[in-house]
Amino acid sequence: MVELREQDESTMGLSFAGDVYNSAVYMKRCFPQLSVSMVTAIGRDRLSDKMLNRFKSESLETEFVFRHPSKVPGIYFIETDESGERRFTYWRNDSAARKLVDFLSAEVIEQLTVADTFFFSGIPLAIFEQGAHTKFWQSLERLKAAGVKVVFDPNYRAQLWTSKEEAIRQFDKALRLSDIALPGVEDLTVLYGIQSAQDAVGFCQQYELEEVVVKNGPHSVFTLVGNELLSHTITPVTKVVDTTSAGDAFNGVYLGARLSGRGIGESVQLAAKAAGTVIQHPGAIAPMAAFKQTMSE
Ligand code: ADP
Repeated sequence: MVELREQDESTMGLSFAGDVYNSAVYMKRCFPQLSVSMVTAIGRDRLSDKMLNRFKSESLETEFVFRHPSKVPGIYFIETDESGERRFTYWRNDSAARKLVDFLSAEVIEQLTVADTFFFSGIPLAIFEQGAHTKFWQSLERLKAAGVKVVFDPNYRAQLWTSKEEAIRQFDKALRLSDIALPGVEDLTVLYGIQSAQDAVGFCQQYELEEVVVKNGPHSVFTLVGNELLSHTITPVTKVVDTTSAGDAFNGVYLGARLSGRGIGESVQLAAKAAGTVIQHPGAIAPMAAFKQTMSE
């Protein structure tokens, strides 16, 4: 999405963000040897050109970034009120990304089968148009059958869904098809009444997941791999500036670390370090130099 941030009365700062994109950026920044492709739809307008250039400047592959002939990207505006609370206003009802499934032809899915991993979240599930889900699930089944690992983060955003029941229905399908789940506790609270990381792990156990990683803000991360349940202590950040994309940075770096052969404990710690760095900067994407500097310390 296009991110607009008020700089003064008459000036807006322009940036680009979105949960899966944020994860892709942080994965690539930390693990440059991995090939990281965006699968999304943008428009043919000037802002979409800028977005595509930004993807490229983060060294992401853009072969699967489709250009819709008439739609444009979704936009959100972040403002901070007098008490420091962030408020988001979205214009995304008619975005190109809602049309992504139209571009997922059998040929495109075939090309995607060379990937090791396909990562998606609850946000595309919420914004896809009525009737698009069936084709999306079929595409995912094809990828899975070809040996691509499927990874899901529910990232529940109540305002994007028509009802809780619909979100629960789609998440159930997503978790049934996934190999790895990376939920945050808060995302499961509203839908399933889950209050703790342990309960979140318990909830995930009903699915045939290889790996479950439960994020819980500054609290311990829980992982379940096979029968091994582990709790990983996180060092809380005292000077939090903006928690936007903490979970996304965590996801990208965790998956990058696992794909690079790191163990669970080390991957969680690297992911937590990345997330802890990101929340000390405003916006979803921390400046490249500051981020890389902290990660190399
Ligand atoms: P989301 O952004 O999806 O809501 P969380 O708030 O659970 O996700 O945060 C994701 C990860 O970010 C956590 O698992 C942790 O590693 C890190 N994190 C979040 N808040 C803090 C904090 N205050 N101090 C240190 N790390 C944090």
